[in-house]
Amino acid sequence: MGTSYSVQWSDVSISISTSELKDLIERRLDQINSLMSTYIPNSQLSNFNQSRETGWHAIDGELAQLVALALSISKKSDEAFDITVGPLVNLWGFGPSETTFTFPTDTEINIAKRSIGYQNLEVRIDPPAINKKVADLYVDLSAIAKGYAVDEVAQILDDHNILNYMVEIGGEIKGKGVAPHGTPWRIGIETPNFERGKIEKIISLGDVGVATSGDYRNFIEYEGKHYSHTIDPRSGYPADHHLESVTVIHESTAIADAWATAFMVLGPKKSIQLSNTNNLSGVLITRDNDNYVSTVFGEMQSYLAK
Ligand code: ADP
Ligand code: MG
Repeated sequence: MGTSYSVQWSDVSISISTSELKDLIERRLDQINSLMSTYIPNSQLSNFNQSRETGWHAIDGELAQLVALALSISKKSDEAFDITVGPLVNLWGFGPSETTFTFPTDTEINIAKRSIGYQNLEVRIDPPAINKKVADLYVDLSAIAKGYAVDEVAQILDDHNILNYMVEIGGEIKGKGVAPHGTPWRIGIETPNFERGKIEKIISLGDVGVATSGDYRNFIEYEGKHYSHTIDPRSGYPADHHLESVTVIHESTAIADAWATAFMVLGPKKSIQLSNTNNLSGVLITRDNDNYVSTVFGEMQSYLAK
């Protein structure tokens, strides 16, 4: 997934050795990567992406389930979240291949837009398969797979009766129970500027998943303007809302992860509306000249450290 992970627990004793636990976790992450990483050329998803054959392609049930979840979020997010956005992501220089960036032309954007659209992807659970309706369709799970993997690693800890833990992959986090000394796990939401390490808000993590999307780490700068790595699939252009970061809390880290990206595309007003209907809590950070303004939504207030 092009990132790092960490797992911490505070149980006084656990029924498995640290090295065994680490092996289990890494085997599980390898398995997930071999299914859905677009950085691995022969992952199941990469094989699907490389195939020029339209029609149904058999895939693992686990991958089908995640694609189904992603497609349901596309529908609920007014099409802002779209795992077929890959050709545009690549065009804007944020894809897995390292090519030198040239600013896309309108023609290139229009051509890429023809091969995207979640309606061109169909999923079937039994037997598990996905249907490519256009030959160029390219599925990119980058905006949901880290959250999903966090949930899966947390499941391993649950299976071993570890009651107090914090799992993190590339900034997406799930917590359970309490930190050492019985205090809540606490995580900071960074101030979204380019100096690392300043904290805007502190979250007291209950038994939930937390995902943050932001533009301040991964962006391109071209002729003095910043371009987000979150692409609006409807326009073909990077999201541009003065929305500096979005943090979403949900019991499923995968769902939190996907919505954090969707909200970057949708902007503050629409995000707040959709958070109500989709049972999401979180924080939006917008910028007003040099000031950062945080807006909390849903049950967020109860997660903020006092
Ligand atoms: P962030 O921390 O900002 O959420 P992620 O890596 O989780 O970063 O998600 C951003 C990635 O998601 C992009 O690099 C791209 O691969 C993909 N992506 C970009 N725009 C969209 C979109 N509208 N819907 C789904 N995935 C997207
Ligand atoms: Mg994300």
